[in-house]
Amino acid sequence: MNQKLAINGGEKTINYTFKRYNSIEKEEVEAAKKVIESGVLSQFLGAWHPDFYGGVKVKEFEEACKWFFGVKHAITVNSWTSGLIAAVGALGIEPGDEVIVSPWTMCASATAILNWNAIPVFADIERDTFNLDPKSVEANITPQTKAIMAIDIFGHSADIDALAEIANKHGLKLISDSAQSPGAYYKGKYAGTLAHIGGYSLNYHKHIHTGEGGILVTDDDEYAERMRLIRNHAEAVVGDKGEKNLTNMIGYNFRLGEIECAIGIEQLKKLKRFVETRQKAAARLTDGLRGLPGLKLPVVKQDCSHVYYIYAMTLSPDVIGVDRDFIHSALTAEGVSVSKKYQNVHLLPMYQNKIAYGSNGFPWTADFCKREVDYRKGICPVAEELNDSTYLGIQMCEYEFSDTDIDLIVESFRKVWKTFS
Ligand SMILES: *Cc1c(COP(=O)(O)O)cnc(C)c1O
Repeated sequence: MNQKLAINGGEKTINYTFKRYNSIEKEEVEAAKKVIESGVLSQFLGAWHPDFYGGVKVKEFEEACKWFFGVKHAITVNSWTSGLIAAVGALGIEPGDEVIVSPWTMCASATAILNWNAIPVFADIERDTFNLDPKSVEANITPQTKAIMAIDIFGHSADIDALAEIANKHGLKLISDSAQSPGAYYKGKYAGTLAHIGGYSLNYHKHIHTGEGGILVTDDDEYAERMRLIRNHAEAVVGDKGEKNLTNMIGYNFRLGEIECAIGIEQLKKLKRFVETRQKAAARLTDGLRGLPGLKLPVVKQDCSHVYYIYAMTLSPDVIGVDRDFIHSALTAEGVSVSKKYQNVHLLPMYQNKIAYGSNGFPWTADFCKREVDYRKGICPVAEELNDSTYLGIQMCEYEFSDTDIDLIVESFRKVWKTFS
């Protein structure tokens, strides 16, 4: 006999709250305390001066990131949103240039493009990894296209070799938004390090964090220096520094403080451990959920590793005979924290109405835009279908799942599935 589902008044499978994931331990507390006691909470100066590059902890954290990720330059910023803006600017993107980006991402990936009055063009995603589909990217290239922004979503790298090949063929720059994938491998290298510029978020919700923060990585000397300039009031510095290339040398204050960097140094030492814990929990979930009809579990492509920011599944409602909303409500009622939506960035009001800067359609209506870019529903059918009816995701950096927690999540799925199979 089937157990009565909680949604129908039956007993809830999970009747306690899971322990929250907390990556901050005593080492971080000690490191932050030392900085506070020193009195120097930030040493940046927005001028061509020895302190232009920041204080001791900024430099130490950047060295540690260089070593860890195996890159020539690591640049800390006060958020990964800031990092993405600095990256797009450093590549020399011009107003009206088009940058191809995934709609299945946090909104900031696309906004960073608009920040320079360039135009986001949304390409569709692959059903198995939720990352940019190289075929759709190629189909969206126009004479205005200057760059591709690949998102390593949910903890798994985009198909970066295929995207790099397209970029090379068409003379485009490649940016890697690896906010959710620090420590994920792609053919023996870290996700984020295989584009012209990549990087990671250090916000509170990610694998490791400094409250707010981000890290840019690149092997290119010129891009690195231009990002450091954008980070720290470029326009006030380029003259004295003798910079010749003034393109996009509009500066911001994107500087990360000494406390955050001291915390970041400790967090980075633990990244591998935190990633392994998420991988173990995901493996246990996969073992338990395998075989449920109409439920597709996360895919890990050959020569890749998954760091499971989100454990993402897809449903085939036609196979199971009930829709995603029912499954979602039934699981939620059993006490499983699961989401049925992610993002269709192209459908946000800003793109639907093409109102960003001011109220008259700038930058889309400006003379430098050579064509009308389409944001209508239908341009990214896979991403839209996933959000509308087939996606289900469990956030793996929200709770510190014990084996028992995972087993109860599995039990909840099996209980719900039993009612219709
Ligand atoms: C978190 C995130 C960002 C933004 O990072 P912040 O540090 O919060 O500014 C950008 N892109 C993706 C894919 C993210 O997950």
